[in-house]
Amino acid sequence: MKIIFHSKFKDVYASDPAAKAGRMEAILKELEGKYDFVEPEPATQQDLKRVHSQRHIDSIRKNPHLYEIACLSAGGAILASELAMKGQPSFALIRPPGHHASYDSSWGFCFFNNIAVALAKLKAENKIKKALILDIDLHFGDGTANIFAGTEIRYFHPEADKSEEFIELIESVLQKEIYDVLAVSAGFDRGVEDWGGQLSSEDYFTIGRLIKQSAEKICQGRRFAVLEGGYNHKVLGKNVKAFIDGLS
Ligand SMILES: [Zn+2]
Repeated sequence: MKIIFHSKFKDVYASDPAAKAGRMEAILKELEGKYDFVEPEPATQQDLKRVHSQRHIDSIRKNPHLYEIACLSAGGAILASELAMKGQPSFALIRPPGHHASYDSSWGFCFFNNIAVALAKLKAENKIKKALILDIDLHFGDGTANIFAGTEIRYFHPEADKSEEFIELIESVLQKEIYDVLAVSAGFDRGVEDWGGQLSSEDYFTIGRLIKQSAEKICQGRRFAVLEGGYNHKVLGKNVKAFIDGLS
């Protein structure tokens, strides 16, 4: 298991909860010394243009600090996906998040759609045909769903009132089809002590383990996850680590 991280992700690039000071540090504290870290390169214009309009890219570029970090974040998802294809499961510890970024717009603390940039690159390079994106964030990833609507890259966002039902929904979707890779939009804002008040650390471990075991059956073990939401710094690191421990 590799953790993709760049020290620039510690920068406060905006005034939203995903960009808050101390958020990355809360996760690093739990992972450092336990997992190997690798640094990403920024995504290129060509990478971004597979899923975003030039107008949208230029609108983000008006803020050079934000643009630099948003490109690194998308580059982190690319590296995670490339490692996954080489048989190395990986977790992109990146920000800003991406799943609310559509072709020509973005909202909800997102700017570029990191997971979409990564999968579109794999697809353009003929490394994959079919992929499943499992989004465990509290919120529906409208950007990701929009970008891949009608394609062989399937998007699934489980919603349930109880954690057992939530896990059952994940289990059922992971049994249905064969894919080339399994990509996870890993948001932690569904946590018991986070906005959604639903999933415990044990649940995050269970979900990570379920994804690992299913990936071995449906996509030759190829799996990667990218960070989306998760805002309570007191529990975020613990939940991220539990998920990664399950996934690895
Ligand atoms: Zn969210």
